[in-house]
Amino acid sequence: MKTGKPENKTMRILIVEDEPSIANFVRDGLEEEGYAVDVADNGKQGLQLALDYIEEYDVILLDWMLPGLSGIEICRNIRNKNKTVPVIFLTAKDTVDDAVFGLETGANDYIRKPFSFEELLARIRVHMRKGESQTIIFSAAEIEMNIEKHTVSKNDHLVELTQKEFSLLEYFLRNKGKVCRRTGIIEKVWDIHFDYDTSVIDVYINTLRKKLDAPGKPSLIKTVRGVGYKIEEEE
Ligand code: CA
Repeated sequence: MKTGKPENKTMRILIVEDEPSIANFVRDGLEEEGYAVDVADNGKQGLQLALDYIEEYDVILLDWMLPGLSGIEICRNIRNKNKTVPVIFLTAKDTVDDAVFGLETGANDYIRKPFSFEELLARIRVHMRKGESQTIIFSAAEIEMNIEKHTVSKNDHLVELTQKEFSLLEYFLRNKGKVCRRTGIIEKVWDIHFDYDTSVIDVYINTLRKKLDAPGKPSLIKTVRGVGYKIEEEE
């Protein structure tokens, strides 16, 4: 992975969320992406962490309804102390009036539950990018993926991918050399709430292979029988 930012600076994210299943799901996913993650499960602890380490956080994810202090109160406190740290709300469906939200909280964005991890990650990246320029490029064989430009090229020719195909390929490239299990793929590329009919993966693998592979050559995306898929690390 090539990146435009200093190698030694790990991005740090604070999650304030009282629902353990969501907090764990988001934390695990973000840690897998290489972020450092702190979790608070109530409003008071969340505000404490946010204010104690305000300069350390690159993004703060705030649940709306929290025991102790609400997400709104936390956000106002954060804004009083730090004008720029991106704050993204995780809101239950229909609890928020969009217009009021933007005006009153000082947050940068919000995402409605249930959300897919992929969607959350995309939002986080957008807001981090506004802070500093970051170019991440993944490659395997003749394939190159530019995360910032959201492009994929093969031998320097652009390949058109749908959003889902792009996300699936990104997942494989980020895990290059590792076997990606079918359930992991579903959780990370589709949705934690997906009903686990993993045959949808095969459909997308087929179209990706058609777009990326040369006829008669071994596929970039290897099938690991009974388990999942992987893209090999180059020798
Ligand atoms: Ca909550």
